[in-house]
Amino acid sequence: MAVELYSFKEIEKIRRACKVVVEVLEVLKRHIKPGISTYELDLIAREEVKKRGAKPAFLNYKPPFSDERFPASLCVSVNEAVVHGLPKREQVIKEGDIVSLDFGAVLDGYAGDSAITVAVGKVSPEKELLMKATKEALEEAVKVCMPGNWVSDIVDVIYKTARKYGLYPLKNLGGHGIGRKVHEEPFIPNHPETLKQEKKDYKLRQGMVLAIEPMLALGTDEISHDGDRWTVVTADGSPSAHYEYVVAVTKQGPMVLTEFSDG
Ligand code: MG
Ligand code: MG
Repeated sequence: MAVELYSFKEIEKIRRACKVVVEVLEVLKRHIKPGISTYELDLIAREEVKKRGAKPAFLNYKPPFSDERFPASLCVSVNEAVVHGLPKREQVIKEGDIVSLDFGAVLDGYAGDSAITVAVGKVSPEKELLMKATKEALEEAVKVCMPGNWVSDIVDVIYKTARKYGLYPLKNLGGHGIGRKVHEEPFIPNHPETLKQEKKDYKLRQGMVLAIEPMLALGTDEISHDGDRWTVVTADGSPSAHYEYVVAVTKQGPMVLTEFSDG
């Protein structure tokens, strides 16, 4: 499949969808406290996206790796959960957890997608470092989203930033193009080995819109699955963090479409 190129008018529509996503994530962040379940967070996300006249992008979404549709609107991945965390009534947030929230919305025919990791109260210094490194990997990756660079440049920057902190990005996962659909070409691996397996690289061009989403872990670069058929976990059970921004590739440079009030 070809990579979609978007006009400035369309990029503005993607920005509006991203604004809804960011607002919902900011509301969720305020609700994360010990005692709240991941299921309750999903209910809040559904309500907040509806209020803004948009639809959740992940509810009933059927990814290529699954025969089933995702039954929630929000992915909540706690501690060793990396991504695609399925919200559950019995999963209750505790002090010291790190909680990754990944949310997507569709507004007026265009999609937005973003993720943040939230520390619950006081977390270990290792978890703090992990969050800092993951966010830095994202920020550094955004900087190379310029016409003439390659997807492999993004992969390199994520890997190098992770290694600077003695960490690794997780294999077999990554970001993607976004626009009329929440997941479009190109796939943007987080780990160089995954890029190698893909045997595909893409030159970045003006009008590409990319969701960049590094996921780093403290102890491993291998993933595994827990029993719920959705939640991806680290192979060794060590904590993982995840941040995601949407960025448009323009002649003027990278244009971040997911703007958080706290950076
Ligand atoms: Mg996402
Ligand atoms: Mg995404």
